[in-house]
Amino acid sequence: MTRTATDLRDLCREQLRVRGARCTKARLSVLQVLAENGGHLGALQIHRRISDGGGHLDVSTVYRTLERLAELGLVHHLAGTAQATYGLAVHPHHHAVCTGCGVVAQIPVPAVAEVLQAAASAMAFRPESLVLSGLCPDCQKQTQ
Ligand SMILES: [Zn+2]
Ligand SMILES: [Zn+2]
Repeated sequence: MTRTATDLRDLCREQLRVRGARCTKARLSVLQVLAENGGHLGALQIHRRISDGGGHLDVSTVYRTLERLAELGLVHHLAGTAQATYGLAVHPHHHAVCTGCGVVAQIPVPAVAEVLQAAASAMAFRPESLVLSGLCPDCQKQTQ
């Protein structure tokens, strides 16, 4: 196992333990896929990646695990896109959604902190999360 894989596994274990949750194989696999991806994935995509990695979880287990992880506050889901996607909630982030293929990327909070602050003071609005729409690198290539 590579160094990063071990680190990820430890991080996931740690996060489950802090919340007093059992570190089941299903939970660990789902968290690991999300941590490796660095963005949001739909339940079916998560299922496919686990299978590709040699794991065996049926789709309903993936859905159930995601629900439980969301209750624990480890995962959150972004609705309102073509399909509901799930991302790690451990590191706060905003979202960028591709209007071409629906892929969801995570925007680090500091990257847009100033913009949100400016918007907040100009509009007396308290922004909590930002969803940007645009084209992902793959879709940009296709329109060229
Ligand atoms: Zn997210
Ligand atoms: Zn795209």
